Amino acid sequence: MECEICGAEIKGRAYSINIGTSKLKVCEACARYGVAVPATTTTTAMQKKRLYEQMDLEIEEEVEPVDYGRRVKAARERAGLKQEELAKMINEKQSLLRKIENEEVIPTEELRMKIERVLKPYFR
Ligand SMILES: [Zn+2]
Repeated sequence: MECEICGAEIKGRAYSINIGTSKLKVCEACARYGVAVPATTTTTAMQKKRLYEQMDLEIEEEVEPVDYGRRVKAARERAGLKQEELAKMINEKQSLLRKIENEEVIPTEELRMKIERVLKPYFR
């Protein structure tokens, strides 16, 4: 079996990955989005380039850090709440909420639950 991205023979495990709407069987290296693949023809070079562009997008999504503060802020704004209003709803000080959003403090589990109870529909 050949890797559908780099064309190398797959030794050992073949990986199935989704890129856009295509499902590809690829080698381990390509499954990790790792290698630059030398192109053999112009057409495949273009195809590969597109594949890699799509992969880059997926990588970005994957490695996006779980920056809680920013997510809280975004969710709060989507909910149309001011810091002050949300703070009141969760019975905390606005200054604490601001620090959480600025990622100066990491909220306790309890506090996160309170925030999420209010903002849950707005988290993404
Ligand atoms: Zn490969």
